[in-house]
Amino acid sequence: MNKIFELIEQEQLRQNRGIELIASENYVSKQIREAAGSILTNKYAEGYPNKRYYGGCEFVDQIEQIAIDNACKLFGCKYANVQPHSGSQANAASYRALMPEGGKVLSLVLNDGGHLTHGSNVSFSSHFYEFVFYPLNKDGKLDYDEILRLAEIEKPNVILSGYSAYPYQIDFKKIREICDKVGAKMMVDMAHIAGLIAANKHPSPVPYADIVTSTTHKTLRGPRGGLILTNNEELIKKINSAVFPFYQGGPLEHIIAAKALCFEEDNTKEFKDYVTSLMENTLTCSETLRSLGAKATSSENHLFLLDVMTSFGITGLVAQKKLEEIGITTNKNMIPGDTLSPKETSGLRIGFAAVTTRGCNKENAKEIATLIYEYLSDKISKEEANKKVLNMTSKWKQIQEL
Ligand SMILES: *Cc1c(COP(=O)(O)O)cnc(C)c1O
Repeated sequence: MNKIFELIEQEQLRQNRGIELIASENYVSKQIREAAGSILTNKYAEGYPNKRYYGGCEFVDQIEQIAIDNACKLFGCKYANVQPHSGSQANAASYRALMPEGGKVLSLVLNDGGHLTHGSNVSFSSHFYEFVFYPLNKDGKLDYDEILRLAEIEKPNVILSGYSAYPYQIDFKKIREICDKVGAKMMVDMAHIAGLIAANKHPSPVPYADIVTSTTHKTLRGPRGGLILTNNEELIKKINSAVFPFYQGGPLEHIIAAKALCFEEDNTKEFKDYVTSLMENTLTCSETLRSLGAKATSSENHLFLLDVMTSFGITGLVAQKKLEEIGITTNKNMIPGDTLSPKETSGLRIGFAAVTTRGCNKENAKEIATLIYEYLSDKISKEEANKKVLNMTSKWKQIQEL
């Protein structure tokens, strides 16, 4: 067998055997994998439906239009661009549509849960725009009065919300009010919570924001990619030209076909039930950890933060590596007020989007909490813990059968 296919098989085995708790990951359905691996990858289609630079686009035009229509229907908005290759490209194009080069963005302190594209000095964002930041309060929550206070001082072009590691609901209506008070545009990056919003389990930013960006591969459970939504006719023109030709070349029509299927799947009762169960599992795990004596945040969405330094006296990096030994995958994460560097951190970010897709239930979520607690406090051997992981995952759906 070709080495690449051998490695894909090994990766499939790894995904099936492990307990995947990385909050940004998920498993897609068979039909989404089929579309993503289809012959559509052969086609060049620079431009937009019925406005292409190439011939032979009659079928991909229809596919992309269905993807756009499905996105608009799912999120209740007027316009969508389904071409961004990733969430980062969606953000780049949206910044360009919203403000001139050098414009000012007020966004969350990166160590409090922001994303690299929200002004990190290793990202394009801080090089082309000026970023200023609002912090979380001492309870690790958004402080809307503080955001208003900073917005009045800084007068940003754009106020950005939507995060990578924030376990609570976001009040988009309040953020709109702040934007209106200071004359800023409102941009929401719902990459993490898009699935919850699609299922009406988190208030939607779509009625309030000028632009909403997202990934399609996290809680939305679609192919790896990006998405941009707006209700503003002038803005969609700017968004479209910022995606192509400014930042990207030919669209990935195979991925766009998979996005169309994803938006359709997300508009079902089955998906709503999945999100309900996902949120229950997340909350159950964090509550169980706390009842055992660990320090963890609560959760109002699909993730929570576990303070492993206070709970077990180890860094996030060490905890992540230790859990990986027994087939539990997580990622180290800064916690609010963290005194360690982003390379070490004091915490782990834990999410249930992926395992819930495979059939993880509340009982399993409790067992996972106990297992994490016992293994990180050295109360159970590696062999015993690993056996429990394999036993649990062998009872879940296999990822190639979803
Ligand atoms: C994941 C994420 C992104 C970027 O997604 P990529 O597809 O990896 O570029 C952007 N914003 C937020 C808040 C995210 O969590």
